[in-house]
Amino acid sequence: MIRIVGGGLAGCEAAWQAAARGVPVTLHEMRPVRATAVHKTDRLAELVCSNSFRGAKLENAVGLLKEEMRRLDSLIMRVAGETSVPAGGALAVDRERFAAGVTGAIERNPRITVVREEVSRIPATGGPAAPVILATGPLTSAALSAEIAALVGQDHLYFYDAISPIVLAESIDRSKVFRGSRWDQATDGDYLNCPLDAEEYRALHEALVTAELTDVHDFDRARFFEGCLPVEVMARRGLDTLRFGPLKPVGLTDPASGRRPHAVVQLRQDNLAAEHYSLVGFQTQIKWGEQRRVLRMIPGLEQGEFVRYGMIHRNTYINAPTVLRETWQTRSDPGLLIAGQISGVEGYVESAASGLMAGVNAAALVQGRPLIAPPRTTAMGALAHYVSHANPSDYQPMNVAFGLLPSLERPPRNRRERRQALAERALNDLAAWSGALGLHDERATAVLS
Ligand SMILES: Cc1cc2nc3c(=O)[nH]c(=O)nc-3n(C[C@H](O)[C@H](O)[C@H](O)COP(=O)(O)OP(=O)(O)OC[C@H]3O[C@@H](n4cnc5c(N)ncnc54)[C@H](O)[C@@H]3O)c2cc1C
Repeated sequence: MIRIVGGGLAGCEAAWQAAARGVPVTLHEMRPVRATAVHKTDRLAELVCSNSFRGAKLENAVGLLKEEMRRLDSLIMRVAGETSVPAGGALAVDRERFAAGVTGAIERNPRITVVREEVSRIPATGGPAAPVILATGPLTSAALSAEIAALVGQDHLYFYDAISPIVLAESIDRSKVFRGSRWDQATDGDYLNCPLDAEEYRALHEALVTAELTDVHDFDRARFFEGCLPVEVMARRGLDTLRFGPLKPVGLTDPASGRRPHAVVQLRQDNLAAEHYSLVGFQTQIKWGEQRRVLRMIPGLEQGEFVRYGMIHRNTYINAPTVLRETWQTRSDPGLLIAGQISGVEGYVESAASGLMAGVNAAALVQGRPLIAPPRTTAMGALAHYVSHANPSDYQPMNVAFGLLPSLERPPRNRRERRQALAERALNDLAAWSGALGLHDERATAVLS
């Protein structure tokens, strides 16, 4: 039997993979008995912020990672495909249907028992026959965090992230915004774009840099993940930083003027019914009352009703290279595995991918089979290698990136072709490796269908 603590993206994927291999699983999830600061429901695999699983194409590293997961019968990828909403070149989901789909699949699985309780101590592993996976995520409860800190010592880190606001669709002034995806307005596009002229942009910038921020306990120690910087932190770097970042107007033409706007705030559809839109790149720690004032300066959002404001939150993760092996087992106890955001990866897809590998390995421990570490040339293998081998002195959680894969012997000069070649090599190597290990086997497929 395997015990998994945390019913998020990593924990659910791990449970699914282990059960697909015939191993019984008990999955402990503390919600709704104990809430986190950010989750809103009692559903498993609730997405706490954006509804996007990012790029869908293979020449995008996260697109490759998703494809590899699909080929290994990932539950998270299957449900994401079933609940997807239009999002240009990205895979985005209806968050409610997604969480409901994963919860239903887990609860109906006869080999998985879901227990709703907070686990406040790291469960003792019963040796290889009874491994434990910790997958309690960035908002791990305080008691368990203290236990993990004791286990991994001073390398247990605290870190902060911020999330974007969501606006009610019917409160958007459609006469001011236009539909379109960057470089693709012919097909109508999946985003609503709020165009700003130079004066509107300057005023918004001024409001962002002067708005009052929420107090964050021990704020002096706050460090942000570079890929998810609060909008006001970016704005403080210079007047044009946002215009070259999330508010860049390139690839967009405002049909009202026939010209490229000075800057653009993009709104991405957040649920299938298109009732909610999230503000792309507007993760923020501005006080809620202030957010309403500042965001209403965006053309089209003058009467905006915000169903969720942006906020800042704690992100807990371990210094993975000092703690983990490539198999997601801890170095100190091979029966204890750590997966998901707390293991030192960054992002929904990366968290689920680590859960996939941890679930397969926990099942292998129970069944006395060899443990897996996918080839380094694959996105999954590169991620596993990064968490277990990166330099621990300045360890940062990492989104998957092509830079983590070994370079090609004869790399094409063109970036797109180089990425395509890396993806092709990864999928070939994955097929050879998983075929040899019988990973994509009939048992897994049988439970999926
Ligand atoms: C506010 C916020 C915004 C984020 N935004 C994004 C984003 O937009 N895009 C992106 O790709 N990534 C984002 N991330 C990062 C990360 O990818 C997600 O947090 C992702 O959900 C991590 O998956 P996970 O399975 O590791 O953790 P989670 O999905 O958080 O799952 C962990 C589960 O463990 C439970 N739990 C915690 N402690 C205990 C305990 N002691 N006992 C039992 N259960 C427990 C929790 O209730 C939770 O259900 C964000 C993170 C946060 C916190």
